[in-house]
Amino acid sequence: MHAELIAIGDELTSGQRLDTNSRWMAAELGVLGVPVTFHTTVPDTMEAGIEAFRLAASRAALVLVTGGLGPTADDLTRDVIAAAAGVPLELSESALATVESRFVRRGMPMPDSNRRQAMFPRGSRIIPNPEGTAPGIDADLPRPHGGTCRVFALPGVPSEMKVMWRATVEPALLAMLPDRATILQRRIKCFGAGESAIEAMLPDLIRRGRDPLVGITAHEATITLRIAARGRDDADCLAKMAPTEATIRECLGTLAYGVEDDEIEDAVLAAVAGQGGTLASAESGTAGRVAALLAQADGRRGAPAGVYRGGSVVPAGLGDVQAAADEARRRHGATVGLAVGDVRAAADGRRAVDVAIADAAGGTVAEHVFGGAADLAPTRAAKTAINLVRLRVLERSRG
Ligand code: ATP
Repeated sequence: MHAELIAIGDELTSGQRLDTNSRWMAAELGVLGVPVTFHTTVPDTMEAGIEAFRLAASRAALVLVTGGLGPTADDLTRDVIAAAAGVPLELSESALATVESRFVRRGMPMPDSNRRQAMFPRGSRIIPNPEGTAPGIDADLPRPHGGTCRVFALPGVPSEMKVMWRATVEPALLAMLPDRATILQRRIKCFGAGESAIEAMLPDLIRRGRDPLVGITAHEATITLRIAARGRDDADCLAKMAPTEATIRECLGTLAYGVEDDEIEDAVLAAVAGQGGTLASAESGTAGRVAALLAQADGRRGAPAGVYRGGSVVPAGLGDVQAAADEARRRHGATVGLAVGDVRAAADGRRAVDVAIADAAGGTVAEHVFGGAADLAPTRAAKTAINLVRLRVLERSRG
């Protein structure tokens, strides 16, 4: 089985917003082993919508749609699906009660326009929306050569779409797949090298059609490797993934800092706490990001609280970073002090920052040069500095 994606909205066709929903759903479908053959983006008009649905249904038995389920007159997805299916829209009393109850809870009268969100093409099924007012639609469209095409339409708001996907669409897709294999995923998080450098360190691993499949994505200098295995059951998938994960760890060494939702700051606080230590900071060129990242991570997701003791932020001109790291350590009574100076321009459009660490063994100061977009420089500098604490702890624990 293959699938097509349709994104609906004037803001998408006009270029005001990028269709990230289709990108996300295509990746999810890939993990389920369902290839996506077409992405279509259409504006908020009946003609374009109906044509897109007819064409998609003629080519695929599965179509996933986002956008246009809101209460306003330009939200036409429900009308388009009904027209493409050749059925009328009917009021669902239960959906109306759900939409109304959201307004009652907020102590507001429901605007009349929201009644539209309780209208469904005859014969379709409601996809509950725990996060917003717009329910989704699960409908069948006739195909030109017989049979039906299953359509799942979800709201455009990405957070709502993702929750509904997990709760309703993904289980429905798993039930539709002929060999209902179990699919398990594991994410390995890396920091300290670019996406292409990491890819080059993993010869033959990131290849289409490989089993288990390994994908790579980058976000704010953090690289995520996603291993996805299909198997008879969880144990089968885990057995398939283990050698791939071992190869990744062997190739990447200390670049791999964590798994799943771990951020670099979580790994750093865990490393410091693992030594029975605590951490304090001082920064200038990073506009408080070091303190913000560490304070947010402290005690997060079951990690011990109080490992990050606090820090100081100045807009610019921290001065001698080694002295600042010593001072942060002393002032907050921490075992490790971290200081990050101003971010400055370096050769070839790159940037440089001085980072110092103070600990029981003395201290280290080094200049770190990094590339990437200008607006990401403070975040990248902050994460680079935080990561150095982890590398220092690892180095010292190895003796
Ligand atoms: P709601 O009425 O709950 O907003 P809706 O289905 O009517 O849901 P739209 O009005 O189409 O959704 O879009 C709501 C918002 O969701 C848009 O303003 C945009 O921010 C975002 N959005 C819509 N489609 C996409 C998309 N394909 N990718 C990323 N964001 C999107």
